[in-house]
Formats: sequence, C-alpha cells, structure tokens
Amino acid sequence: MQHVISPVGRARAAFEAGTTRPLAWRLDQLRRLRRMLAERHADFAEALARDLGKHHTEAQLAEIGFVDAEAAHLERHLEGWLRPRRVPVPLAVRPARAWTELTPLGVVLVIGPWNYPLQLLLAPLAGALAAGNTVVLKPSEHAPATSAVLARWIPEYLAGAAEVVEGGIPETTALLAERFDHIFFTGGEAAAKVVMRAAAEHLTPVTLELGGKSPAYVDASTDLATAAKRIAWGRFMNAGQTCVAPDYVLAREEILEPLQAELIKAVTALFGPDPAASPSYGRIVDDRHFARLAALADASTVVHGGQRDAASRYFAPTLLRPAPGDAVMAEEIFGPLLPLVPVDGLDEAIEEVNGRAKPLALYVFSNDPQTRRAFAGRTSSGALCFDVPAAHLSVPGLPFGGVGGSGMGAYHGEHSVRTFSHERPTLDKPLWPDTLELIYPPYTRTKHRIIGALVAPVGKRARKR
Ligand code: NAD
Repeated sequence: MQHVISPVGRARAAFEAGTTRPLAWRLDQLRRLRRMLAERHADFAEALARDLGKHHTEAQLAEIGFVDAEAAHLERHLEGWLRPRRVPVPLAVRPARAWTELTPLGVVLVIGPWNYPLQLLLAPLAGALAAGNTVVLKPSEHAPATSAVLARWIPEYLAGAAEVVEGGIPETTALLAERFDHIFFTGGEAAAKVVMRAAAEHLTPVTLELGGKSPAYVDASTDLATAAKRIAWGRFMNAGQTCVAPDYVLAREEILEPLQAELIKAVTALFGPDPAASPSYGRIVDDRHFARLAALADASTVVHGGQRDAASRYFAPTLLRPAPGDAVMAEEIFGPLLPLVPVDGLDEAIEEVNGRAKPLALYVFSNDPQTRRAFAGRTSSGALCFDVPAAHLSVPGLPFGGVGGSGMGAYHGEHSVRTFSHERPTLDKPLWPDTLELIYPPYTRTKHRIIGALVAPVGKRARKR
C-alpha cells in the first residue's frame, strides 16, 4: 500500500531536512513569491473581483502590490536582521561571549479570513519563509476563487516551502488537531478562541490578528473636508469589510453636523452619485453578512445611503445617527455603515473608547497637541494614527497587530521575522580560566565576600536586611 503523506507531514519533512535555514533559501522563496504575484497577477486580480467585487486597482493597492512590497522589504533587509546581536557579559560571568540569534520555529500554520484573502495569507507567509520556516496556508472558504487560485499556484512556485489546505470549519478543525510550531490566525473572536484552545493542546504559540470597533475622533481644529474624505475612504474601501476601517465617528454635535455634510460629499466624490454603478465600489461577501448588515442599518437612524440590493449584495455607503444602545454600536460592523456619535468633548470621547474592548486602531483627526497627547497617554489600542486611517499597514517598519480584544502579537517586516523566529540566546564561556572556582562550594567567608562583590547590588541589599 502506498503511504500518503499529509500536507503538514510534507511541510514538517521539508523543514526537518534542514534546507530552509540558509539565507539563500529564504531569499529564493521571497523571490519566487514575488515572481508568482507578477506572473499570475491576472488570475489573482480576477479571483478578488469574483470574491468581493474588488476593483483591480484596489486589488493591486491592498492585496497583490501590498504583498509584493512586503516581500521586497524582507528581501532587502533580511540579512541584516538575521545578524547575531552581541550582548554584554557581566563581571560575574566573564570571560565569555554572549549573543542572540533568530532561529526558525519549524512549521507555521497561517489561517486567513475572506476580506483581504490574498494579503492576509501571503504577508504572513512571506514573514514565515523569511524566518526559515515551512508553512501550511489555510485560505478562507468564503473567498473561494482566491482560495482556488492559491491552491493552483502556491505548489508550483513554492514547492517544498508552502502547502495549501482548502476548506472550512471541518478542514480547519482537522488541521488544528496536528502539531505546529506557530499558528498565525487572522479572523474573528469566536474562531480565535477555537484556535487558541486547539493550540493549547500542543502548547503552540499563537499570533491572533482580530478586529473590533476602531473609533475615529474628529475635533474643530482639523480640516473637516480632508478628514471626511479620508474617513470615507477608510470606511467604504472594500465595502467596509476592512479590519482597520474606522468603525464609528466621535465628535461634538456642532462638528458632527458639518462633518456629516462633508462625508456625504466625500462619498459622492469617491463613488459618484450612484455607488451601485461605480466599479470602484465593492460588494458584500455573502448573503449572511448582507442580512446582518441590513438588520444593523435601522431605517430610522439612516441619514444618508441605506439603499441595497440583496441579489447583487450591493449595500450603499451609509451614514447613521444611532440611538444609545443600538446594536450597530455593540458589535464590529464590518460593512459600509458609519455611525456618527455625539460626545460632549475630549474626555467623553476617551471614556467612550476606554469603555469598550481595546480597538485594533484608533484614529484622531486633530491639530491640537493636547488632544493628541491625551489620546496617546490615556488610551490603549493596537495602533494610533493621527489624521489618516489604515495607512499604518503600509509602513513596513511599524508592527501591525492588536492588543487585548483586538489580538495578540504583531507582524510586518522585521516584526514578522521576529514573530516567526525564536530569539535564541547563546553563551560561550571558555573552560580556561575557570573563574567559576570562585563561586563553587564549599562556601567560605572569602567566597561570600567575593560573591557579594560580584553581584554587588543584590549583596548590598542582603547585608542591609
Ligand atoms: P472568521 O473568524 O470567521 O474566519 C477566519 C478563518 O477561521 C477562516 O479561514 C475560517 O475557515 C476559520 N474558522 C472559522 N470558524 C472556525 C472554527 N469554528 N474552527 C476552525 N476554524 C474556523 O473570520 P472572517 O469572517 O473570515 O473575518 C472577519 C473577522 O476578521 C473580523 O472580525 C475582522 O475584523 C477580522 N480581521 C482582522 C484582521 C487583522 O489583520 N487584525 C484582518 C482582517 C479581518
């Protein structure tokens, strides 16, 4: 009988063969990944259009080009990041040399969501390969066209480096029963808990990239027209199905009025008078999400938009003025609805932010240094951005990740390489001279004095007691 090796088994065997460790292998995988994106660009763009109605320009900006830029950045800097880092050795341990080195973990499982089905699978892949691991990719079943294109091309371009396992909950459950050396998950809270529980069985470390409600605060010191345009762009890109989209706006009532007018102008500028006819505007991923959003967009609170078409899953960019306690303010919206929420000023806005789970991103549109400092000093969030939403993802030197309810761990650029590596400390102490003679038992008064001097602060504290 022929012995069938599973994708995880193949990834494990490839890692254990030792070929993934040299810098040359890692750089080669990054180049292959980039070559795949270039040569199969049309396939990927078409799949993203089919799954999400994504315009090919947006697909280039936020998916294909994004991953290419991330891989190029890794390729350029990897050698430097992998250089061992010398660490000073204290007197008590000298003579010796100490350093740390980033070492691969082994087999990494990357589980992706459907909203940026290419970026959120391949950007972690690039980091994991750069760190010298092999990878199993689990694309989202809710972006089937992208999943199929990945399953078609990854084995060809990244043979021996990455495997693709397609499927939904049953397939993911089966995968999670296996042992990995790291699990990198992007998705919602409910599935994150399933992943973390499964990881606990093998004591596998996890990175969780989750979502939540990312607020935008706007005050009078900003340019409302530009702020509105940026907020509308961040909110309505990918039809609102973006983890870092501004989820709701907080402002004083006298700001909300003119801001609302500017947001309406911005929506028209971005998508024309009828966004349904704009090829730049996306569609809701499936009927379940469409129905969920329809239930959230209570007609009595809609101040702009609200039009929808179930057959094509078109949902217009919509502005709401929710009543306190409305469902739209209870959960992550993940669609093209933007609630405008009045607060009586900075302190109430900060209270509102701090009264909820820590957001993935916090956006502050203000020119007032005190307001900026107040948000920086009195809130916690995955990221803090002044005057622009979502663009922090494109700064490869910034770690991208959440905190508390919005996730744990971070990636991008060097942070990816560190996430997918173990920073192994190494100590090299020559056998001669054997300075440890000074501290070996049997203990004597002289040795006590020597040890006191060598580890002075501790010795002094001990004598005082
Ligand atoms: P999801 O949690 O439903 O699915 C994510 C992945 O987990 C999919 O591959 C799916 O097959 C798998 N999965 C789902 N349920 C599972 C289960 N019970 N057992 C095992 N596997 C399971 O998330 P989604 O709907 O694809 O994405 C939306 C969520 O992702 C939103 O909350 C959004 O904010 C978040 N998100 C976060 C980021 C980020 O970078 N932080 C990016 C995009 C999306």
